[in-house]
Amino acid sequence: MEIVILAVVIAVVALGAIGGLVVSSRKKKQLPPAPPSSPSVTAPPAEPQVGEEAETARPEPRRTVEEVELPEAPAPEETAPVVEPEEAAPAAPAEPEIEVPEPTAGRLVRLRARLSRSQNSLGKGLLTLLSREHLDEDTWEEIEDTLLTADVGVAPTQELVERLRERVKVLGTRTPEELRLLLREELLALVGTEADRSVHTEPGVGVNGEEKPGVVMVVGVNGTGKTTTTGKLARVLVADGKSVVLGAADTFRAAAADQLQTWGERVGARTVRGPEGGDPASIAFDAVKEGIAENADVVLIDTAGRLHTKTGLMDELGKVKRVVEKHGSVDEILLVLDATTGQNGLVQARVFAEVVNITGIVLTKLDGTAKGGIVVAVQRELGVPVKLVGLGEGADDLAPFEPEAFVDALIGD
Ligand code: GDP
Repeated sequence: MEIVILAVVIAVVALGAIGGLVVSSRKKKQLPPAPPSSPSVTAPPAEPQVGEEAETARPEPRRTVEEVELPEAPAPEETAPVVEPEEAAPAAPAEPEIEVPEPTAGRLVRLRARLSRSQNSLGKGLLTLLSREHLDEDTWEEIEDTLLTADVGVAPTQELVERLRERVKVLGTRTPEELRLLLREELLALVGTEADRSVHTEPGVGVNGEEKPGVVMVVGVNGTGKTTTTGKLARVLVADGKSVVLGAADTFRAAAADQLQTWGERVGARTVRGPEGGDPASIAFDAVKEGIAENADVVLIDTAGRLHTKTGLMDELGKVKRVVEKHGSVDEILLVLDATTGQNGLVQARVFAEVVNITGIVLTKLDGTAKGGIVVAVQRELGVPVKLVGLGEGADDLAPFEPEAFVDALIGD
């Protein structure tokens, strides 16, 4: 009996113990979700999400400079100071390095190989034809075709052929060197050596009598290299010792403002931008305002080049110009044209010239084409000089246009 009682007691005790274990293990299972105990409940609102995101969504590529810099400062103080300091330390010195662009003097000469590589068919082709022993009608026709194929344009081609015919006749026997000089002279006359090809960026006086930066508007159809050219031009100006503010008024193309800002950051130029799809004129206005406030030397304004209707374009570009002029004059309006587009480029040039007062032409992508004759054609078309040429995708591949270096590159040494 005693034994039975003892057994019952033991059984009860044992059951009690098991029960306790179960309860405590249940408690443990229930507790974990609770541990949002006071210290981490208050601090976490920001922290845990940052932590979770950092672990799960680390590969997200949308880290802008602002996003990287902002979280670093407040974070370490709020969480356990043991973990954070290590992360904060390496992220802090994320200062972008400012590049020193190549000097602009003689850039075209340095980049000449790119021109002559693609222009063989024009200059060298002409020389070969002119060197034939008998310059019969077929040869003159071939000369004409060579010029037309290079996009020199009908009227300038006829003029040049006329001049060459005369001079070759007078010359009689021709040495290769004489021919080279003659062709050089005639091509140079066609391209023109008299025009003022400087980009006007001199500071002026604003409407309130204050000093106003030089203001340059860059216009052209999207895809011609307009934004790239604006970025490269900022480098040209910085290389020449000027301070630059960029206005990202191409609010039509989504990436244009980011693209321009990146160009600016590389040389330490601030970019004024607005919301995507925002009003280009107000951004342009703000950019010039910023330029005045910063005492900058030049403000470059990238614009949108939608050619859907001439009226739309006219409204937009005209408005940008008018609004900027509330600060003072626009000193230069550069039209960017893709040299590889031939006749299409000329049509674009015509439309833009009707809309705004173009003061200079930038021909891009001259490195990839044998159509260098477009320099002559577009100048004729608009009566405005080519001021800059793009000779590649590199940051310093934009060169002031120099007729002599250009013609020398066409003919080769
Ligand atoms: P946007 O739409 O007119 O602003 O055009 P982008 O500036 O975005 O340029 C369009 C493309 O043309 C880019 O890939 C540029 O790198 C390229 N590009 C611009 N200028 C030149 C140039 O002189 N030579 C070559 N080869 N490519 C260029």
